[in-house]
Amino acid sequence: MTFKELHLVEPILKALDDQGYTTPTPIQEQSIPILLRGKDLLGCAQTGTGKTAAFSIPILQNIFLDKERNIRNRKVKALIVTPTRELAIQIYDNFEAYAKYTNIKSTVIFGGVKQGKQTDALRRGVDVLVATPGRLLDLISQGFITLRDIDYLVLDEADQMLDMGFIHDIKKIIAKLPVRRQSLFFSATMPPAIVKLSRQILGEFDTVTIKPKQATAERVEQAIYFVNKRNKIKLLKHLILTKEVSSTLVFSRTKHGADKIVKLLRRDEIYAEAIHGNKSQNARQRALSNFKKGKTTVLVATDIAARGIDVSDLELVVNYDLPNVPETYVHRIGRTGRASASGEAVSFCNMEERAFLKSIQRLIR
Ligand code: AMP
Repeated sequence: MTFKELHLVEPILKALDDQGYTTPTPIQEQSIPILLRGKDLLGCAQTGTGKTAAFSIPILQNIFLDKERNIRNRKVKALIVTPTRELAIQIYDNFEAYAKYTNIKSTVIFGGVKQGKQTDALRRGVDVLVATPGRLLDLISQGFITLRDIDYLVLDEADQMLDMGFIHDIKKIIAKLPVRRQSLFFSATMPPAIVKLSRQILGEFDTVTIKPKQATAERVEQAIYFVNKRNKIKLLKHLILTKEVSSTLVFSRTKHGADKIVKLLRRDEIYAEAIHGNKSQNARQRALSNFKKGKTTVLVATDIAARGIDVSDLELVVNYDLPNVPETYVHRIGRTGRASASGEAVSFCNMEERAFLKSIQRLIR
């Protein structure tokens, strides 16, 4: 299967070609035809599956083919709501890349920074708006945005949004949308609260499920080290120095823990940086960009902060702490072995974490 066979328009095919993408990933192959037909979609998939392109490409194509669109007076036609700034920026970058040869304009808004640049872009007019929930509601209440003309809604990483306490914001946003619209709902996990929320948002929908098993079993080589808490840092240093990989992402359960790991690595001249919610937006962006450019080879992150990390050739993921939610393990190791590359994930497990290991093993069989 090629992108051409998915009946995409020439400008989008050309942009995909520029990206070097020829074959759609499974979620793209399944979702794009559904979305081009105008149907609602429930997508059960994590990042790393190519899901951003799976929704951005058909939305762009539908907007592109919309004969009533007036580029002198642009209205926000597509709204993508996502939990973190990092993810929002990443989705926006995707839209920009695939829209390169169309005249469709996108912008991204998120909190934690001054709003001036964001409202300037909105004033100039956009077709696609990528947003985190808080800033979106804020700018709506200030009158910079109306959701009256939305034809396409995407709720991305819904489970994470609920975990982060965005449920009321989401409900407020939904209430402002036109009833007639195409809705897309993505979540890596489908606990009951998520299923309920999806029913409130979607009309008649098709479901696409990309099993996490694929990401874990097929592409990522996994290993576990039984190690006591005290020795974890020594083991980490040893692995970083002996494996000689150029990019390592280390997961820590807590922000404090992440800072501590960075401090101890630096003591041995391993240049690491941390990203987590206590860091300013600028510091997070800088750390991420240093990591992507290869200036830092080790990035230490908490789960929430890591959601938006998209590094194409991430070689090693280290679970310094085992997550207590087994799905989180799948998320984490999905950071390596992305669409084309293959990767490696090692986990450290101490006595107290044995129970977490059991539930992970049950999940991924
Ligand atoms: P996502 O799940 O959207 O975060 O995408 C994961 C990664 O796969 C990103 O780095 C994308 O740029 C890349 N990607 C998406 N679609 C394709 C494709 N069809 N072929 C190769 N790489 C892709």
